[in-house]
Amino acid sequence: MTVSSKTSSVDVNLDLKYGPLINGQIVEAADGYIDVVNASTGEVLAQIGKGGTEDVDKAVKAARAAFPAWAATPIEARSSILNKIADILEENQERLKLIESMETGRAIHEFDLDYALAINQFRYFAGAVLTHYVGESRPVDNGYLITKKEPLGVCAQIIPWNVPMIMTSFKLAPALAAGNTLVLKPAEDACLSVLEFGKLIQEVLPEGVVNMVPGIGKEAGQALIDHPDVDKLAFTGSVDVGRIVGRAAGDRILPVTLELGGKAPHIVFPDVDIDAAVENATLGYTFFNGESCILGTRLLVHDDIYDEFVEKLIERAKKVKIGPPTDRSTRLASLINKKQGERVLNYFEIAKQEGAKILYGGNRVTVPGHEHGYFIEPTIIEAEPHMRIAQEEIFGPAATVTRWSDIDEAVRIANDVKYGLAAGIMTNDIENGLTVANKVQAGSVWINSYFNFQTGAPFGGYKNSGVGREHGKEALDAYSQSKTIVAAFKLPPLGTFL
Ligand code: NAD
Ligand code: MN
Repeated sequence: MTVSSKTSSVDVNLDLKYGPLINGQIVEAADGYIDVVNASTGEVLAQIGKGGTEDVDKAVKAARAAFPAWAATPIEARSSILNKIADILEENQERLKLIESMETGRAIHEFDLDYALAINQFRYFAGAVLTHYVGESRPVDNGYLITKKEPLGVCAQIIPWNVPMIMTSFKLAPALAAGNTLVLKPAEDACLSVLEFGKLIQEVLPEGVVNMVPGIGKEAGQALIDHPDVDKLAFTGSVDVGRIVGRAAGDRILPVTLELGGKAPHIVFPDVDIDAAVENATLGYTFFNGESCILGTRLLVHDDIYDEFVEKLIERAKKVKIGPPTDRSTRLASLINKKQGERVLNYFEIAKQEGAKILYGGNRVTVPGHEHGYFIEPTIIEAEPHMRIAQEEIFGPAATVTRWSDIDEAVRIANDVKYGLAAGIMTNDIENGLTVANKVQAGSVWINSYFNFQTGAPFGGYKNSGVGREHGKEALDAYSQSKTIVAAFKLPPLGTFL
């Protein structure tokens, strides 16, 4: 482990206070303000509105008022605006990345991936929407049948703190492309890059199409999902809050999209180049500080190579550079906050009590000048598949290692969790790779390259990992409803039915 300290020179230029963004303007928050702090230094970066029913109501009203005109805007014009949003994100990315690195505590270099993905989302949906409205039209007896897609209306969208701009793009791009207006509630711990982005894109959007209400989950978030005038709920975050959002949707018969976490298996076959596999596995469990639902946190390693693989995995973990988030050479930085840090450390205690063996790591590390942060060593734990450490989402830089000796056993262990968001497989035998990929219960399976996101591919979870898909064309359907129109040339002659 290496500790370094060097900071970036881009100016973050934040406002002192961010109330809700309503009708194109940041306005005064109705229920007071809370601090947003730099995750690793504790320095107050800005204040955000606490959020509550009044702020939410104003935002929903703005979105409602803007809806008819936005829905009626020709798709070519909406497409062009989405491309302009992508350009704005691209032009402003260095500053937004720095803000996001400071508030999340994540290493600045990671945001190159986040922002490339986010920019791509807007460009993808700018293109995809041009084909979205090609419905069916065919002659029927004495007339024509037409099917068409219509937007849903006002969308309520809630996102977490781990990958703010990726989440913002996943929510905004398909909703806007399909002709909806929206109110986004970013997470209280990391929302400043999102609010700044929200401000910047107002230049190319009509007033009230994109509104944002920052604030506390139980207040701003709850008020948003409970608002009587929203037409769709979309949420990414914990399973517990996902259930609350799902119930709110059920009570009011609203369409809902939920993305709720994971515990991805990463299966290693004995035919791999072990050094390359260790590198890919390390990326897979340490990227995003381990604070992501797609991480490959359960390493299932074939018996024949287990000892050598694990030894090399430990050696590789020792070399992962822990340092200040805004230092370009840092590879692992600070978790979001104390609560998350203690939660992760507590899981290591649980692991020990269960009889799992911490083979490397397990400790908090101090980085000079960043004492507020929870920097956690890359942690490798030998565990039985049934143990809590191998079943529950940790959301920290930790992986369990477990042996397997035949493919059916690997698949059984891989599927024996309540989640099913992602999975990884490493092998030179593509037949084995695809056979396992077909049997793994996961929405995304990456063979030989973890996090291999491809533009337009559906993303979402099996089992408790959620409901619905984002990121691809299915997302446009999730933000649309279909209408069937049957037009007869004339009324049926008298006496046809009676
Ligand atoms: P959370 O689910 O509480 O927060 C996610 C978002 O939901 C935030 O914007 C929050 O303000 C909002 N929220 C909270 N309570 C709400 C409510 N009652 N109504 C409406 N919105 C509400 O997540 P957390 O507490 O920040 O993290 C806890 C754990 O959740 C993590 O350790 C991790 O395991 C998991 N998690 C998963 C993801 C993911 O990408 N799937 C993201 C973040 C956290
Ligand atoms: Mn919470």
